Amino acid sequence: MSNSIESFMKRVIEKNPGESEFHQAVKEVLDSLESVLEQHPEYADAKILERIVEPERQIIFRIPWQDDKGNIHVNRGFRIEFNSALGPYKGGLRFHPSVYIGIIKFLGFEQIFKNSLTGLSMGGGKGGSDFSPKGKSDNEVMRFCQSFMTELFRHIGPDTDVPAGDIGVGGREIGFMFGQYKKLRNEFTGVLTGKGLAYGGSLVRTEATGYGLIYFVTRMLEDRATGWKGKKVSISGSGNVAIYAAQKAIELGAKVITMSDSNGFIVDQKGICLETVKRIKELERGRIREYTNEHKSAIFKERFQDVWSVPCDIALPCATQNEIDQNAAQALVKNGCIAVGEGANMPSTPEAIEIFLNEGVSFGPAKAANAGGVATSGLEMSQNSIRLSWTFEEVDKRLKTIMDNIYDQCVITAEKYGKKNNLMAGANIAGFLKVADAMLAQGIV
Ligand code: NDP
Repeated sequence: MSNSIESFMKRVIEKNPGESEFHQAVKEVLDSLESVLEQHPEYADAKILERIVEPERQIIFRIPWQDDKGNIHVNRGFRIEFNSALGPYKGGLRFHPSVYIGIIKFLGFEQIFKNSLTGLSMGGGKGGSDFSPKGKSDNEVMRFCQSFMTELFRHIGPDTDVPAGDIGVGGREIGFMFGQYKKLRNEFTGVLTGKGLAYGGSLVRTEATGYGLIYFVTRMLEDRATGWKGKKVSISGSGNVAIYAAQKAIELGAKVITMSDSNGFIVDQKGICLETVKRIKELERGRIREYTNEHKSAIFKERFQDVWSVPCDIALPCATQNEIDQNAAQALVKNGCIAVGEGANMPSTPEAIEIFLNEGVSFGPAKAANAGGVATSGLEMSQNSIRLSWTFEEVDKRLKTIMDNIYDQCVITAEKYGKKNNLMAGANIAGFLKVADAMLAQGIV
């Protein structure tokens, strides 16, 4: 890292104390930008870096709600409107007890570049709460979502800021929040994406992040002159991204052998039966260990982090940030893993990424590899604007084209800036350039 980038990073840490995930996300992008900044002194003159790491607006609010017994709880809500150079703020809402400002800022920062890579008109934002929907009744979740939206509605809108789902926020939560927004504003607009099909949602949005990940990794595999057929695939998580990544990988001939949740992971060397997982997780809202009650070929192990010690050809982390550390990366390499595609946001630590890049493992970074979700959200916004719904095939085709374009941008940009085969550098640079140029064009705002 050059001295100027190092001192810049020091200032970011001083200005945003205690936000380690945010520091990590900023450093990853800065590390890729050295030669870009040398070739484009106009970015330094216009203080693009200083402006891009400072959110345009940060909203923190109180969310009081009542449980089924009448007890009152108070959670904290966030919406970080990070950058609107390319379009309305766009990014998901995360409901998880670990949520604090540093998590939302790391996610919002990443979202700026991810959205830029999709080629659609979307700025970057992210939000959420330290509320956990796990173990709550539908009525409790509804009351929480209504209280959350009772504050958030005044800050968002179809041309201002369009939230979507993330960890802990699926179709049920989006529905409750949409209902409250509609009531408070007295208008029916595409203010949230990930909506139900009956009220403005898009086909393929549910599958989009997982499918998009597989389309991206397909290109990585093609560059190694191979494909999915017969490959052993290890997946972490068993939520939205994990389930639909597994579905597409299986459809293309792979065998998915692991899935996990925060309690542990299952291994089924016969190949995981996705129907069982979908029923347990999507319908019954149960735990992944229940899979072993029905499939005797499977075992359950505690400590979800150990999922990466299971030998596989391809690893798809689809749970949470920093789930692949140095030890996990070493285990994957030792066991012959040839490709890692990040479905989750920032699932690999910097040390793990270095190992993958040095050991010749194809590495698909989250910003690019999991951009299919927000890209399809962008397609949902388009359909809402023209008040038409496209078919499954049409949306899927557009998603695939977008993922192919993202892959090409990463490869071409990495090579252009002297980082051949480094998709992470390619994604960071390509995402940054478009935003930086838009910021330059729009003046000091
Ligand atoms: P879900 O809530 O549907 O599923 C999350 C899964 O990961 C669950 O199995 C959950 O287990 C597990 N998990 C979550 N947090 C932890 C943790 N701290 N430790 C261990 N396991 C954990 O979320 P999504 O599938 O939507 O999101 C997964 C990842 O993908 C996140 O990083 C998200 O930011 C990213 N992503 C999601 C997109 C989307 O469209 N949904 C788009 C782009 C990225 P448990 O049930 O036990 O909590």
